[in-house]
Amino acid sequence: MEKLKNNLVMKAIAVFPQEKKISIIEHPEPKLLSGTEIKIKIQEVGICGTDREIARLEYGTPPKGSPYLVIGHETIGQVVEVGSQVSKIKTGDFVVPMVRRPCWHPECPACRSGRQDFCLTGDFSERGIKLLHGFMTEFIVDEEKYMNFVPPEIKDLAVLVEPLTIAEKGLIQVWDIEKRLPWLDVPGAEEKYAHKQKAVVLGAGPVGLLGTMALLVRGFDTWVYSRDPKESVKAKFVESIGGKYLSSRDIAIQKLPEQIGNIDLIYEATGAATISFQAMEVLGINGVFIFTGVPGRKGPIQIDADLIMRNLVLKNQLVYGTVNAGKDAFEAAILDLGKFAKRWPAQIRQVITGRYPITNYQDLLLGPISGMKRVITFSN
Ligand SMILES: [Zn+2]
Ligand SMILES: [Zn+2]
Repeated sequence: MEKLKNNLVMKAIAVFPQEKKISIIEHPEPKLLSGTEIKIKIQEVGICGTDREIARLEYGTPPKGSPYLVIGHETIGQVVEVGSQVSKIKTGDFVVPMVRRPCWHPECPACRSGRQDFCLTGDFSERGIKLLHGFMTEFIVDEEKYMNFVPPEIKDLAVLVEPLTIAEKGLIQVWDIEKRLPWLDVPGAEEKYAHKQKAVVLGAGPVGLLGTMALLVRGFDTWVYSRDPKESVKAKFVESIGGKYLSSRDIAIQKLPEQIGNIDLIYEATGAATISFQAMEVLGINGVFIFTGVPGRKGPIQIDADLIMRNLVLKNQLVYGTVNAGKDAFEAAILDLGKFAKRWPAQIRQVITGRYPITNYQDLLLGPISGMKRVITFSN
């Protein structure tokens, strides 16, 4: 059997920044090197804007000494081997790995407390993005502590866990912030008040739509504001899950409060600065604004800074950005995906708009964007 030979190789998709190319390569199959590691057979890998930027060589850093970086950071796999000290995860389990790994600085309190998503030094690494090979390959090995168990009944959706963690980390912090209001800092307040809160999601890509689902299951009255016309597939999708859809073709962003009332929360998932700062102008009293998108550098834009600053002060507003995710957000995403699958069994499956073999990588990474979440399948 091939698997019994030493120094096995496997297929992977890698970018070569020096040679300016991306290709399918033969990559050494990883082995367990310590008792706390596990080996995973990759099932599916999702593709997002970050992968496409890395594929265009705008981003991404190979491991030290390697001419290439194996890409991919959104995945679900099945455990095929566990080290002798692995305690919670078993062979056969389905898992989703976290992406970021801690920096080495002893004085970084974030990394030293397992919260490398808040790393203070910037010397973290990220699988498939920065200094560590990613998941667009057949097998990976990693520490058990970075793995999140996935119930088998949602394994066909679990490639969505990582993109959903963006919303989960954002929303964990929303409720921490909401506790500044004493009537929300009591047990059961989230259940009691969330449905009275009005949320606007900017953007109808996968991060926006998964965020919309996360807001809806928490009870928020949720609007999605995006460019797609109101007859579009995405608009129909939003309405089919109980959200409300407003197209920027029909309504100017300044008019949103007339339609919605006091906007308690804006969840930005566009990566577009102009529309996002215009949206800050309509954030309501005690409102919270979450930025999740990373805009390209396109030069300065005009914003009404006086109005935004006045609102921030006079309306007790809070604005924050969020990147990457900790274990709590991964666990929340897995729980929420289970809820989505029960509440919207057809719709949550529509979010994955296509499953493709590895040989389609050129089109998926460099071709036009289409659909919602497209994934590469390795399970066969
Ligand atoms: Zn991603
Ligand atoms: Zn750190």
